[in-house]
Amino acid sequence: MTYVVTDPCIKCKYMDCVEVCPVDCFYEGENMLVIHPDECIDCGVCEPECPPEAIIPDTEGDVDVWVERNREYSEIWPNITRKGESPADADKWRDVKNKWDEHFSEKPGTGS
Ligand code: SF4
Ligand code: SF4
Repeated sequence: MTYVVTDPCIKCKYMDCVEVCPVDCFYEGENMLVIHPDECIDCGVCEPECPPEAIIPDTEGDVDVWVERNREYSEIWPNITRKGESPADADKWRDVKNKWDEHFSEKPGTGS
């Protein structure tokens, strides 16, 4: 079992989650983060830290596609362990639904 980052993170990327993860298993894309499913120890402490509630356990409904997306990008994006600066317009994107198709970026972030 693992927790995964889902659609609400895209273009929000508040990064409160990375500070609390005991095993540093977050990876940074240009406009979202992902969790490495094999590194996550399923502790759940990041879930309540995420303002837009983007982090969910893989036991919650139909999240297989998000497990695969988290796995795919955690293998190519850099690790992030410290909170960086959120996008200036993060609040504007917070409640926008289904951002993956139009707004997801495959580009890596800078990591930290
Ligand atoms: S706290 Fe939530 S929105 Fe912010 S980077 Fe982590 S998963 Fe994304
Ligand atoms: S559930 Fe725990 S181990 Fe997994 S990403 Fe969140 S804080 Fe890290």
